Amino acid sequence: MDTNTNDLWVFIETKEDGSAVKVGLELLNPGRGLADKQGGQLAAVVIGYQTAAAAESAGRLGADKIIVVDGPEYKQYRTDAYVDALYALVGKYKPASMLIGATNNGRDLGPRIACRLKTGLTADCTALDIDEENGNVAWTRPAFGGNLMATIQCPDHRPQIGTVRPGVFKKGEEKGSHAEIIYEDIHIHEKDIRTRIVEMIQDMNAEDVDLEGAEIIVSGGRGVGGPEGFDTIRAAADALGGAVGASRAAVDAGWIAHNHQVGQTGRTVAPRLYIACGISGAIQHAAGMSGADCIVAVNTNADAPIFDIADYGVVGDLFQVLPVLVDEIKRLRM
Ligand code: FAD
Repeated sequence: MDTNTNDLWVFIETKEDGSAVKVGLELLNPGRGLADKQGGQLAAVVIGYQTAAAAESAGRLGADKIIVVDGPEYKQYRTDAYVDALYALVGKYKPASMLIGATNNGRDLGPRIACRLKTGLTADCTALDIDEENGNVAWTRPAFGGNLMATIQCPDHRPQIGTVRPGVFKKGEEKGSHAEIIYEDIHIHEKDIRTRIVEMIQDMNAEDVDLEGAEIIVSGGRGVGGPEGFDTIRAAADALGGAVGASRAAVDAGWIAHNHQVGQTGRTVAPRLYIACGISGAIQHAAGMSGADCIVAVNTNADAPIFDIADYGVVGDLFQVLPVLVDEIKRLRM
């Protein structure tokens, strides 16, 4: 598709109540820099129902323009409705590039809209830039099992599209909004949407873990030795008011649920404090937590790679170190 603009779009996914899903707001932060380098405007594209609050949030986070498609048919994400609306918007405004959060819905929408537009998509990017020589977006993502980082470009087709997982970028500072809000009257008939949501069933077994929003995370790996080893991790997390994370080895062993997994195939986190206990620090784990402001590692092996990225390291048994830490925190809080 030809492009007439240098604009960069950030897709703002919305929840059922019309508010913005956090990752969209996070992406406005790198989006601002990319749009400036591209020499275009930063536009937030909001699709949903009763989305005024989401649109206002995007404005306060630096979008120059907010394009809104609002209607009851968009209250819950359905592929046909969202792809049709986004396709119509791209045809009208012709952006140069588009960022989409890699949520479950974003991972569905991204490839479908890329295919409809006959353009490329780079999934799960961890860094974004503009190639100064040719002006293309340089999408960087882990490749070959996370053992190297690949930078991918989409030189021949527009828009260039990429997905980015929640937590990779931090939300920018909120400011006064000067954004132009454009409401587009795009509607789709129910009969043209091939899926029906019959019922929403909450998975009662899946504990809701807000790792991306956590300021403090205490994570356990294979070194915790079994499911009961996570009691020690949980006690430390509770004492610090933090959340519990885990390595893939601990998750694969069935010691803790997958929604606690941090890393390339888990969640990307950026807390103020990340305490890695009994975690060796494989590159795939580091991919999900190296953005933490302060990393503390507790490991019996002084040569474990986690110490290469840790700000503070304790060479020792986590079952001896963590109880001392918990007691000390409790003493200080008394
Ligand atoms: P290990 O590497 O076995 O390390 C255990 C550590 O515990 C050791 O360093 C040991 O010295 C220490 N230890 C043992 N006992 C104690 C004790 N009592 N006290 C203190 N320390 C102790 N991994 C992830 O974590 N997240 C991912 O998302 C992820 N995605 C992957 C994707 C791909 C495609 C691939 C190929 C791999 C992925 N992995 C991921 C797996 C990753 O490569 C490592 O295998 C995994 O991170 C190792 O987990 P671990 O550090 O808990 O275990």
